[in-house]
Amino acid sequence: MPYRTIIEPFKIHSVQAIDFPSPEQREQALRRAGYNLFGLQADEVIIDLLTDSGTGAMSDAQWAAMLVGDESYAGSRSFRRFQERVQRLTGLPEVIPTHQGRAAEWILFAVMVKEGQVVPNNTHFDTTRANIEYQGAQAVDLVIPEGRDPAAEHPFKGNVDVAALERLISEVGVERIPLVMVTVTNNSGGGQPVSLENLRAVRAVCDRHGLPLFLDACRFAENAWFIKAREPGYGDHTPEQIAVEMFSLADGATFSAKKDGLANIGGFLALKDAAVAAQARNLLILHEGFPTYGGLAGRDLEAIAVGLEEVLHEDYLRYRIRSTEYLAEKCHRAGVPTVRPPGGHAVYLDARALLPHIPPSQYPAQALAVELYRDGGVRGVEIGSVMFGRPQPDGTEESAAMELVRLAVPRRTYTQSHIDYVAEVILAVAERAGEIRGYRIVEQAPWLRHFTARFAPAG
Ligand SMILES: *Cc1c(COP(=O)(O)O)cnc(C)c1O
Repeated sequence: MPYRTIIEPFKIHSVQAIDFPSPEQREQALRRAGYNLFGLQADEVIIDLLTDSGTGAMSDAQWAAMLVGDESYAGSRSFRRFQERVQRLTGLPEVIPTHQGRAAEWILFAVMVKEGQVVPNNTHFDTTRANIEYQGAQAVDLVIPEGRDPAAEHPFKGNVDVAALERLISEVGVERIPLVMVTVTNNSGGGQPVSLENLRAVRAVCDRHGLPLFLDACRFAENAWFIKAREPGYGDHTPEQIAVEMFSLADGATFSAKKDGLANIGGFLALKDAAVAAQARNLLILHEGFPTYGGLAGRDLEAIAVGLEEVLHEDYLRYRIRSTEYLAEKCHRAGVPTVRPPGGHAVYLDARALLPHIPPSQYPAQALAVELYRDGGVRGVEIGSVMFGRPQPDGTEESAAMELVRLAVPRRTYTQSHIDYVAEVILAVAERAGEIRGYRIVEQAPWLRHFTARFAPAG
């Protein structure tokens, strides 16, 4: 197909108005929220890039499927559709619907992980790490070294360091490792993909030691597209074939339908092992609901079943990955430092490089995130020392490894002109980077402080 501009592969069928708060209203909103963008009302935001989770637009086919949702408590037709789609995609026979990804994680780890054990991953997502630590186990990140360096160009920066995995197994002992996880794409590592070659190598290590392999599959379709585009030998495969091959290497998967399910809520745990699945279903009934609906309505199961088809359409994935890359390119060409290459779902601005005059103790990424909102009503999220800084006994703080602002792109929600506008805002802010000042925390919670902390301009 002779593409020129890669256009949105849809036309708009229903719209939701955007509000345009004035600069004065934005300033007032910032003061009220204590300069924490989580404290803003959504209608105080012009372009909301806080997250790509549950913020996508559903298709006409998904809305139509919702109307025929079967809300039977037990044995609903919608569950059978959902189960059939998940089985065909993953090849995993046991399908357990949950209200979102973290519920699948909680159930899986409650069944499989014991106190004192160790769970490796390329990079654990926050909810995955928290759910493992909640069981008294340790979550270990083993991404390749390139995956920790924002400027390093590598086609599969989400790959697992296979030698490090072997070392970990021999150090802690195989009996202390209940399972190995791989996150596709690697969200906390910048949305970077994992190659099939790497997945096969991890599978081989698991086979040698008799360990089960689980995918944290939230962005499996974006990962499949990167494999098609970058991994030798896969250019002629369809995204569906590649996704099927990825899942065929796993013994199970956790999934948030709020990402590559193209839905606003939902998730699943899928498994090979019927005995583990039976235990998981007992917990499901206690916490989520009966096994044929989990934490969801029948109509949600329908929307996800359709979303899991649409998300693998080539036109969709080409547009999806291109729209993120397009924003990253505009930043890169203008000399605004970002994590390279761009991942699937987000552009990460490198605030440490852009604002070298603001020390980590004054939260440069928070300052940049606030400035993007102040300048143009664009909401991103700080991923730096506010989120990961560790307060020390002497009142100082150990800063995070990187100071990033993540701009996550919701699926099918914004058009190219919205993204052009975002780039204009970023470039305008970058032009006056030298004038931007840092912040100090005036109020914070003992954990997950980034959600509720209040700030004031420093000095
Ligand atoms: C979002 C996400 C989760 C958790 O899913 P929720 O639906 O938000 O509970 C887990 N892992 C990764 C990689 C994610 O991106």
